[in-house]
Amino acid sequence: MRHLPLFFDLQDRRVVVVGQGPAAARRAALARSAGAEVERLEAGFDDVEAYRGAAAAFVATGDADADATAARAARSAAVPVNVVDRPALCDFIMPAIVDRDDVVVAISTGGAAPVLATVLRQRLEAILPERLGALARLAKSFRAQVGALIAEPPHRRTLWRRLVEGPAAQLVLAGDDAGARRVMLGELDAARRREQDAARRGATPPGIAHIVGAGPGDPDLLTLRAAQLLQEADAILHDDLVPPAILARARRDAELVAVGKRNGRVRWTQAEIDAELVRRVRAGQTVVRLKAGDPFVFGRGGEEVEALRRAGLPVAVVPGITAALGCAASAGIPLTHRRLASAVTFVTARRADGRQDERWPALAAEGHTLAIYMGATEAASVRHRLLAAGASPSTPVAIVENGTRPDERVSTGPLGDLARLVVPPTFRGDAGPILIIVGEVAALAAAAAQPLLAEAS
Ligand code: SAH
Repeated sequence: MRHLPLFFDLQDRRVVVVGQGPAAARRAALARSAGAEVERLEAGFDDVEAYRGAAAAFVATGDADADATAARAARSAAVPVNVVDRPALCDFIMPAIVDRDDVVVAISTGGAAPVLATVLRQRLEAILPERLGALARLAKSFRAQVGALIAEPPHRRTLWRRLVEGPAAQLVLAGDDAGARRVMLGELDAARRREQDAARRGATPPGIAHIVGAGPGDPDLLTLRAAQLLQEADAILHDDLVPPAILARARRDAELVAVGKRNGRVRWTQAEIDAELVRRVRAGQTVVRLKAGDPFVFGRGGEEVEALRRAGLPVAVVPGITAALGCAASAGIPLTHRRLASAVTFVTARRADGRQDERWPALAAEGHTLAIYMGATEAASVRHRLLAAGASPSTPVAIVENGTRPDERVSTGPLGDLARLVVPPTFRGDAGPILIIVGEVAALAAAAAQPLLAEAS
């Protein structure tokens, strides 16, 4: 981020606008719409006293020398200055603006791509209702009452959400301010009674746990519901595999708790995680248990659901894009293929239970794709098990590291070389997760694929 976005209170402040053209006129109009007293300066740009005491100066003379002179004078008077189309002379830059009265969206590309800012603005214009400002005004008119009548922050937050998303909002956006006000009074009353009931029973009503899949790492691959829940959560208990780019989508006040483990570092046990979920939901929190990929694919989400059900607490599951699907898409590998593969199996490389080895002959069959999870330290044994089960050493394999993330790497080769293709984490420093895809389809990996070996040597 090159510029910090701030919203400047110009109400009744003096703003100097330098220049005569349409650009200067637009800046003057904009400053007036924010309540500023605009003073147009059309000569004597170098007069420092003309700027003294102003809140800001906008310069648009259309002439490079005159612009520089005005900017210098404004700065000598300690007035922050914006020069149209001359970023090098600016103390602050003007964003593209979506204006809905009190609700304002400002978009900046730091001057890098003004057209991109314009396009984003058009998109936001299209989706933000015209009467959004009226909704904000209505909410403002209830702030004091809600603050006085509803004591608990979570109750307040629930009420505000109902107000800005529910029937009251629909009415105000449709132009019925009086109807909206009536609905809001009803909602406020109901919320107050709910809170009093809870206080009388001496217990907070339980919250809810959402067991949520975060997908393979690209934040754009979150489901809409996952993104919404990240905005509603009081607390987010997340695995280490969930990248910062996704955690950044969380509500600013949400408590982030890292419960994951990676290679050797201390971690919470599953029982501790289950207990923490139960404790927080009992205390009334909306808890998101955020897991890489899908919570029910090698995610132990099932155990968490059981623990919450046993405690009689509400729990819901939100699916996510599992690593196999994310990695396959991004590496260009169709997991099934009319000619090459008619079945696909998601399988873990770990041998938690020796008996599982008996299944490998079926997995090694031709025309069958394997998506192998947790194989980073098991490559040699995966290779051994597949060859022993009758797979050909020439069967194509693809290894996708950090699938769907900016640092994704794909390498390909024959099954016989698998142990060499997968560099163990201990030799790779802070290595990312890897997925191994075995089967004829692996040969279709995008041409960009490069062997990990070359880079490791
Ligand atoms: N529930 C998760 C799997 C968790 S097990 C899911 O549905 O994807 C952890 C394993 O997932 C890792 O060892 C790795 O094999 C795989 N994995 C998760 N994210 C990955 C990614 N971005 N790229 C490659 N493999 C990934």
